[in-house]
Amino acid sequence: MQIFEAMAQEGHEQVTFFYDRATGLKLIVAVHDTTLGPAAGGCRLWHYDAEDDAIADALRLSRGMTLKNAVAGLDFGGSKCVVYGDPEKTPELLRGIGRFIETMGGRVNTGEDVGLTPEDVEVMAETTRFIVGRKHKSGDPSKPAAYGTYMAVRAVLKETCGTPDPKGRRIVVQGAGNVGHELCRLLAADGADLVISDIRPDRAKEVGELYGARVVAPEAVTKEPGDVFSPCALGLVLTPEVARTIPVKAIAGSANNQLSDALVPAILKERGVLYAPDFVVNGGGIINISEEFHAEGYDKERAYAKVARIYDRLLEIFEVARREDITSEQAAEHLALQRIEREGAQNGMFIPREARG
Ligand code: NAD
Repeated sequence: MQIFEAMAQEGHEQVTFFYDRATGLKLIVAVHDTTLGPAAGGCRLWHYDAEDDAIADALRLSRGMTLKNAVAGLDFGGSKCVVYGDPEKTPELLRGIGRFIETMGGRVNTGEDVGLTPEDVEVMAETTRFIVGRKHKSGDPSKPAAYGTYMAVRAVLKETCGTPDPKGRRIVVQGAGNVGHELCRLLAADGADLVISDIRPDRAKEVGELYGARVVAPEAVTKEPGDVFSPCALGLVLTPEVARTIPVKAIAGSANNQLSDALVPAILKERGVLYAPDFVVNGGGIINISEEFHAEGYDKERAYAKVARIYDRLLEIFEVARREDITSEQAAEHLALQRIEREGAQNGMFIPREARG
């Protein structure tokens, strides 16, 4: 990969490679944009077939964090840390990640992502101050992420059915993990008609029993008719084929990187299926975390009130998309990039206070 060329394509500010002789840790830290403030984005420990794949993932995910943070109204830039080479996840390796993050002086804040547990993050925090989403602060981000997804489902219902009330609406949820389970709990309390699917039958069954959801097989979930499809499992579920056939009025789910192809939003728009961009829907986790930085400290009520604004933000995005005849994905990106551009002149690149001299 020509790294500078790749950086120039989406305007990445920085890519740093760390190698720790003692543990063999190979850490890639991609910083996309720090106009709005210090960058924030989780740390991923995942298998990659090649180094270029890991760099590409870090670049893509860090840009996604910039958009997510900007559209959520947060004063954070976007970054992502990726551990390459399938190392054994020892406490020494985790402390090594923390040490490297510490050397960045606050330009990058990291936390949990795929492959790391809240306990791992606590070990990383032994060697760096720049960890967000810690247990004793804002806690498990999946609950506010689910609440934000619930508000997104209400927003797409408002747009497609005229009222946000989920009562009697059929909501098809893919994934009965942390977010999917909590989302079903919230929707069941409103009297929604739920359909659930998980590759782990025990999880789907539990949600079925607790919330009266009908369980369907994983391969049937995108063929299930409903008002809303809510992807809360893994990414890349919205392929062009799914977009051409899915029998729902709207899509709003928490999964990251739902689009397998850039053409998908246009196909959905053409068919009149409303798509709520994933990076807007799933902002609840990071919005909640951002409250750790509030001058008066973290407050759950204030944080959830901020998460609830995902509802209004989506209605604004749908309005822009309609007015300008563009996809909701494009409208959301425009809003995020406009905010960065607006504030860019005042802020520029984020430099940690200690490094300003
Ligand atoms: P999780 O691992 O707890 O749950 C995911 C569930 O999806 C698991 O139960 C898994 O068995 C199931 N699954 C995987 N493939 C499936 C398939 N093909 N069909 C049906 N089920 C399948 O993860 P989570 O924390 O609930 O997160 C769900 C999604 O939301 C992820 O994409 C995550 O990146 C995203 N997200 C999570 C948070 C958070 O704070 N947890 C925040 C923002 C975004």
